[in-house]
Amino acid sequence: MEWRPFLQAIHSKLTDQAFETWFRPLRFQRSVQEGVLRIAAPNDVVRDWILSKYAEPLRQSLNESHLGSLRIEWQIASNNSMPSEVAEPEPLPRESDRVQLHSAESALPEVGLSDVSRLNAKYTFNDFVVASCNRLAHAAALAVADSPGQTYNPLYLYGGVGLGKTHLIQAVGHAIASANPTLRIAYLSLERFMNELISAIRFGYDKTNAFRERYRSIDVLLIDDVQFIAGKERTQEEFFHTFNALYDRQKQIVLTSDCPPRDIPEIEERLHSRFEWGLIADIEPPDLETKVVIIKRKAEAHRVNLPDDVALILARHAKHNIRELEGSLIRLLAMSSLRGLPLSKSLAEESFRGVTNEPISNEVSISKIQHLVARHYKIDVENMKARSNVRHVLIPRQVAMYLCKRLAKKSYPEIAKHFGGKHHTTVIHSVEKIEKEMNANGELAGTINRLIEAVNT
Ligand code: ADP
Ligand code: MG
Repeated sequence: MEWRPFLQAIHSKLTDQAFETWFRPLRFQRSVQEGVLRIAAPNDVVRDWILSKYAEPLRQSLNESHLGSLRIEWQIASNNSMPSEVAEPEPLPRESDRVQLHSAESALPEVGLSDVSRLNAKYTFNDFVVASCNRLAHAAALAVADSPGQTYNPLYLYGGVGLGKTHLIQAVGHAIASANPTLRIAYLSLERFMNELISAIRFGYDKTNAFRERYRSIDVLLIDDVQFIAGKERTQEEFFHTFNALYDRQKQIVLTSDCPPRDIPEIEERLHSRFEWGLIADIEPPDLETKVVIIKRKAEAHRVNLPDDVALILARHAKHNIRELEGSLIRLLAMSSLRGLPLSKSLAEESFRGVTNEPISNEVSISKIQHLVARHYKIDVENMKARSNVRHVLIPRQVAMYLCKRLAKKSYPEIAKHFGGKHHTTVIHSVEKIEKEMNANGELAGTINRLIEAVNT
């Protein structure tokens, strides 16, 4: 039996995401004699979700591929329950940003008491420079940290890339954790929430319930980059219930996003409105003076004294955001220490030569990144993809994964695939680890900046 036309018919009616999540794991078998189409789902969650949400596209697709007269019988696939002549759905010739499902490993981390392990130690209120561009957001974050669940709930912070949203939301986490060590705090990106949810669903009701219980029993939920919820129906559904459970018990929720709630596309109205229940505060790009203050503070953190005129040059060059500003400082510090030159205006000018500060295009390929990183660390690309976790391949692998996420803008599962089929949580872990380490380790940050330039040329 050729299933491709049927699968293509379904795929054409759904988002890639929905197709990959719900229909890809199914197995089909047709019995002509009995007039039956057996569909095996990996567990009852998948079956129930399809029946409640996708019954109509399923029915239409069967009709379009002349299978409409068959009676459908659902089965839950235990390991080997489908007979051997079952047709595997053939892979569709389409590269999409798909969510890969795994059955071998659980991807559920524990949320501990005051779990601050995922917070970057530098993202505190103390290290945050307050100026007119972020004054409201900062004040609101402080208020929430002072009395979680009592003032603004949810607090919704939004602003462009690299303007300090992650810094502020993590500062809330740090402050609450140190004032109330027994509260359960969860900080994670929406993307991570989604990946955990999908892994849980994959394992059936027990894991899905465990996922629910875990997130509905915490005291403070900090979700970064909630705009990724756009178009993710099941994640919206789950997040909605998590939100309600926490809100009803006056637990604090903080969300960040790159746009106001109303501008998140493809999101259910009930979530839109909930995001607006508390306080919405935006962060604007800093003006020149603020950039100078921030860059001088960052230099202090690296224990260097940055002359005002040099700070001004860096601030003028950082057109887009503060992350870029920090990048240029680190490049300058690396140049100065490598060549033993003082931090002068001319060195600063030179450090910008040949560097574009434009955001990098999507064209960067994963394999280019892998090759450049392997060459830099003097190892084989193949070693990078192998299973070994010895340090001299582990670090390059993590750096390469980080660069793939940042520059190639691929999804975690997609990156995992290009590293010898590792689990996508390995990629998440690597990216988070490198992000964290770059702040503490100037040498690593310098290496990464040079690699970014190399990837870009
Ligand atoms: P976003 O999450 O909005 O993309 P981040 O919070 O990751 O941005 O900020 C990017 C970098 O800029 C971080 O290293 C952060 O510490 C720094 N940063 C942003 N705003 C400020 C600020 N007001 N004071 C100090 N550092 C800042
Ligand atoms: Mg962020």
